[in-house]
Amino acid sequence: MTEAKQPSITVRASSWAGLFDCAYRWEGIHILGMRNTVGLRAALGTSVHHGTAVFDQSRLDNAGLKPDDAAGAFIDKLHDPDNEFDPSKDDLTMKNAEIIGLSLTTKYCMDWSPKYDFVAVEMPTKPLDIDCGNGVVVQLTGTMDRARVSKTSLGVGITDIKTGASAIQKGEANTKGHAAQVGTYELLYEHSTGDSITDPAEIIGLSTRGKPEIATGSIKNGKQIMVGTEDQPGLIEFASYMFRTGNFYPNPRSLLCSEKYCPRWNSCIFKGD
Ligand code: SF4
Repeated sequence: MTEAKQPSITVRASSWAGLFDCAYRWEGIHILGMRNTVGLRAALGTSVHHGTAVFDQSRLDNAGLKPDDAAGAFIDKLHDPDNEFDPSKDDLTMKNAEIIGLSLTTKYCMDWSPKYDFVAVEMPTKPLDIDCGNGVVVQLTGTMDRARVSKTSLGVGITDIKTGASAIQKGEANTKGHAAQVGTYELLYEHSTGDSITDPAEIIGLSTRGKPEIATGSIKNGKQIMVGTEDQPGLIEFASYMFRTGNFYPNPRSLLCSEKYCPRWNSCIFKGD
């Protein structure tokens, strides 16, 4: 009988997508433990996620919470965030953050959430081991942060909520760069439940800049991007190579390549000027 290999590295599933954005930044944060403070705009996003998740969980549990309760949960989180933020990092005042967040949270609860038949909200997942070769095993753990599982006539699919200044572009949710995340969640859902994902993933974008706006966009091949095809390797194979060799590639074209979002900025020689 062969013994199960112990994981060499444990990472939160929700961080996995960042590996394919700038792997060098990801290594700085998740392996070397580098941290940077975020601005109020990031705290606004986290708080809107919290308010909407409280509401959707209540729908699942038949707990009867109203949009007003979700708005209250949003305000509580904004004023008592899990992580400290630096108000000087953004051009946003607390008053404006409240106005934007209250409007988005309420709009989501009243107009968008009722369109979905959710079967799970921020679902915990069973650890998934990825054997990278050379004795390196990466274990994905944690919950599907910010995502829901929803049911339609096509079966179950991932519905991922994204907030941000560019969450909506040309009237549709911006899906660019989100396929790795939803693909990871699709794999984890199937691994955790034994059920297949058969519905395309959907991004619900909540725009935190300009007028509060919500729109959707779909991602059809997230899982395939992760596992590849018969002829082409998927992102898991590229990731395995990075973990096996320790070569984490920089990406100075990442949207997060800035002093504000990257804790490796000061020491990174790849960012250019
Ligand atoms: S500064 Fe840019 S290239 Fe360097 S690690 Fe950060 S995001 Fe990547």
